[in-house]
This record gives sequence, structure tokens and C-alpha cells, in this order.
Amino acid sequence: MKTIFTTAVLFASSILLNTTDAAAWRTCDGKKVKWGSNNVTMRASNVSFPSGSSYLSALQTVISRVNDNPSPFNFSLQTGDTSVKFDNGQNETWFTNDSDALDGAPAVAFTWSHCYWLFGWHYGIDEVDVVFNNNVSYTSSNNKSSSWTYGGSFRPFRATATHEFGHAMGLLHENRYYNIMGQDWDHIHANGNSTRAYLGEDAANGSVILYGTNPNYMEDVSLTHHKYLGTSGEYSTHQLTRLYNSSGGNLSRFGNSGEWVYRVNKGQTVRLELTAENNGKNSQSPAMGYYISTNTIISTADRRIGTGSLSLNRNVPYTFQRTLTIPSDLNSGQYYAIGAIIDYNNAISESTGTNNATYIRIYVN
Ligand SMILES: [Zn+2]
Repeated sequence: MKTIFTTAVLFASSILLNTTDAAAWRTCDGKKVKWGSNNVTMRASNVSFPSGSSYLSALQTVISRVNDNPSPFNFSLQTGDTSVKFDNGQNETWFTNDSDALDGAPAVAFTWSHCYWLFGWHYGIDEVDVVFNNNVSYTSSNNKSSSWTYGGSFRPFRATATHEFGHAMGLLHENRYYNIMGQDWDHIHANGNSTRAYLGEDAANGSVILYGTNPNYMEDVSLTHHKYLGTSGEYSTHQLTRLYNSSGGNLSRFGNSGEWVYRVNKGQTVRLELTAENNGKNSQSPAMGYYISTNTIISTADRRIGTGSLSLNRNVPYTFQRTLTIPSDLNSGQYYAIGAIIDYNNAISESTGTNNATYIRIYVN
């Protein structure tokens, strides 16, 4: 079997930029290069991901997040691999101290695929090894305070690994939308003090473009306080969504770039900006609940200050603004959060409900 060793970068010239679909993939004579099977086994190094370790637990979580997609494609994770190696016919994942092998990257999904003509075109992915750089200060934790994303000192392993396993599925970098195949560490969900890495709508749609729709039920809507910013080469960059005044102007804020706090007045009309995603199989019209909370965990137990609904196809994330009024009976000099819950009435049966709520911090003048 002829194999062609590539990285996503080397294959950039064959990215198909389709104007209606967002995700990107390799092509061979115009056809999508993907796995020949919908179930691919990935083996984790016994040294890098030992039994009982926090990194094995994080890796298992990442695999299940990637598998929570609306296509029939999924990974099976085998642990305890004692002989990880490039190009050995097995898909493996490990940490390395060899920065040269990674060309300084925090992680690389090394991909072997074939594309040749022999009485017809033959193409497909043959092997992927996902290798992480030991010299990067990763955290396996989902604590907000540890993560770069929120002003902490560590790169969130779960987000980077989700990006790499997106490559392992067959997806390439995408820079036009808020998505995990762009900059990974700020493609994340948070409610309260914990973060949650996830595949997201764009890559979920990419899984369907490559492998079709899952015959089983799979629906999931989600909400995040991140949005698209711009491009850095092949990568999309992201930023936090904002709170605006009634005319769309910037409200004054303090804190840091990981966790802004917006100053509001009692009774003030504001515009809350958030990003909604449909990560599932079918179009959805989720009901939206908007809340004020005395902490950063938005829940249905909080004070509801508005309702509405969204109409979400499965294509690309939807960043929107909702006009709301800050209640006039809040306490001056106190911190609160304003936020929302998508499908707050639990009308949609979802693969997970833990990504439905998010917040923006406020301080009442
Ligand atoms: Zn990448």
C-alpha cells in the first residue's frame, strides 16, 4: 500500500474551501480523504497515560467529547500501549520530549494517508499518531483558574487534545469561524469555575460532511461566552463575547482579558452577547432563558429576567445579542453574573445538558 506521510500543514494546498460548509478536509482527485471505517481504534501510551492518572482521565473525556458528534464516526480508546511508534500500522497517542519531531508545536496529529491512481483513484487515511509536547505547560484539569483561557498559567490539555482528535478524524484547520480546528484553548465552555472542552458545531458539521449522519438519535445545543475574532494563518482566533449598552456601545469593564467584569446601573438596558451552537443532527428551535445570578453559575434556580427562542441549523456557530434590563432592585457595589440557558425548559432530549448555560460577570454601580 502506498502511503503518503503528511501533516495538516503540508496538505494545506488540498483544503477544499466550500462556501456553504465550513469545516475543512483533505481531498484526492476532489474526493474526501477519510477513514474507511466508522470506528477507529486509538491506543494510549502506558507511560504518558498511565492507569489512574489525571491525563488518562482527561484523554478519555476528550475521546468521549469527540465521539459525541452527529456522524457514525467514533474512536475506541485502548490504554496501556507499551510500544508507541510512528508508522507502525497502529494509531497511537503519547507525550514526547522531542520538540524537533513536533517542530515546536504543542501537539501534532501525524497522519499517513494514500491517494493514487491504479485503474481508478484509491484514497483514505491509514494511520494517525497524536503526539503531545512534554515541554508545554499543560493542565489536565478543567479548573478555570488553571487555564490560559481565564488568566491561569497552563494550556488546557483537553481543548488541545480535542483539536488533535479532530485532525485524527480527518478535519483540517479552519479559520473562518469560531471552531475547535482553529485556536483551541479559547474554544471552550464555562459555567461557574469549571471549563469544558468540546467539539463544537463547525467540527460536528465536518464529521457529517465526512461520514454522513448517525442513524441513532444525537442532539445537543450549547451556549458559550466566546466568539470569532479573526485569523492567525490557518487558525481562527477567538475572544470573549461582551456586554454592551442599549445602543451597542462598549460598557466600561475591569478585571483582565480572561474574566472581564462590566459596570452596569440598576434598571439599565444592556445587550448580552453570547454564541449558540447546534452540535447535533437536526435543526432545533431551543427556548432561551436569561438570568441574573449572585455567582457565576447560571442555573434555572437563578432569577429569570427574560425569555426567547433561537432557530439553529447545523452549520456554523451563531453569535447574537439579546436586549435585557438590569433589575432595579439589585444591590449597589455587588458582583453578579448575567447569563443564559439554552433549552432552559428542557424540551430537547440532548446527549449532554452540561454545556447549556454560561455567564458574563457584572458589577452594579
Ligand atoms: Zn492543528
